[in-house]
Amino acid sequence: MHALIFSNTLAMTADAPRPTPLPGEAVIRILMAGICNTDIEITKGYMGFTGILGHEFVGIVEIVNDADTGLTGKRVVGDINCGCTRPSCTYCTQGLGRHCPERTTLGIDRRDGCFAEYITLPVANLIEVPETIPNEFATLTEPLAAAFEILEQVRIVSADEVLIVGDGKLGLLISHALSTTGASVSHVGKHPDKLAISAQLGNQTMLLPDMAAKKYDFVIEATGNASGFGFSLAHTKPRGTLILKSTLAAHEPIDLTPVVVDEITVVGSRCGLFRPALDYLQTGVDLSPIIDSIYPFESALQAFDRAKTRGALKVLLDFA
Ligand SMILES: [Zn+2]
Ligand SMILES: [Zn+2]
Repeated sequence: MHALIFSNTLAMTADAPRPTPLPGEAVIRILMAGICNTDIEITKGYMGFTGILGHEFVGIVEIVNDADTGLTGKRVVGDINCGCTRPSCTYCTQGLGRHCPERTTLGIDRRDGCFAEYITLPVANLIEVPETIPNEFATLTEPLAAAFEILEQVRIVSADEVLIVGDGKLGLLISHALSTTGASVSHVGKHPDKLAISAQLGNQTMLLPDMAAKKYDFVIEATGNASGFGFSLAHTKPRGTLILKSTLAAHEPIDLTPVVVDEITVVGSRCGLFRPALDYLQTGVDLSPIIDSIYPFESALQAFDRAKTRGALKVLLDFA
C-alpha cells in the first residue's frame, strides 16, 4: 500500500505492507487525514518516532478481527492511544488507556499511523461518525477532542476570565471549545485573519503587540513554540490556572519562580475523549475556516511542505 514514512527523512512509498489486525483490532481504510504540528515536530525528532506518520483521520472499517460489533462498513474516527487493556492496569480499567504506561500511539509511538491507505486500531477505540458530519470536519475530531479535554480537566464557569494564547490550528479549535462555556474568553495571537475566526464565535480578540498587562483566571498556552510559556505565565492571575497544550521537540530553560510565588496551578493537557468533540460537530458548526487546503494523498510531501509554511492552518490529505 501507499504510505508516508518518516525515518530520518519523509518519503512516500508504494510498497508498505498492509497491516494485519491483532485479535480485537479492526482494519480501517482511510478516507481523509489531517497534518498536525505533532507530525512536524516528529520530523524534528520529537518522540524519536520512525514509521508511518499521522494520527488524525476518518475512515471506513473494512475488517474486524473480533466478535461482530456492527462496525464493519461504518465510517469511523478513532482514539489514537492504545492501552494494554490488562485487567491489572489501573489506567486501562478506569477508561484512561490514553495514560497507560504501556500504550502505543497512532503515528507517534510504536504504532504505524494514518498517512497510509490502511491502519489497524483496537475496535474499542472506534466511534461511528454521524452522517451529517462531512469527512473534512470528522478528520478534525482528534484535535477538537484535545481542545475539549481542557473542559474535562478544569471547571470553567461563566464568571471566569479566560485567555487563549496562540491563534494556530489548535488555538482556534480551543476557541471553539471554550466558546461553549459562557465564560469571558479573550484570544491573543499574531494573525488578524485567524483571530477573526475566533471573534466570530463571540470571543474578544487582540494582536500580541496590543496586549495589555491584564491577568486572567485561566490561561491556555497553545502557541506551539517555546516562548509561549513565559508569556502565558505572565498573564495568569495569582492562584490562577495555566493550561499547557504545546508539545515541542525543543527543550528551552524555563523560570518556574512565578509559579511558586503566585501559587499558580499548571495543568498539562493532551488528548481528549472523542464523544464531546463529535457532539459539538453534530451541532452543525462550520470548521471550514480552520481548513487551509486539501491535497490528494499522492501529493502528501507537497501537503507537508504547505503545513510547515508559517501561518498555515489545517492541511488535509484526501485518499479518494
Ligand atoms: Zn494532532
Ligand atoms: Zn494499560
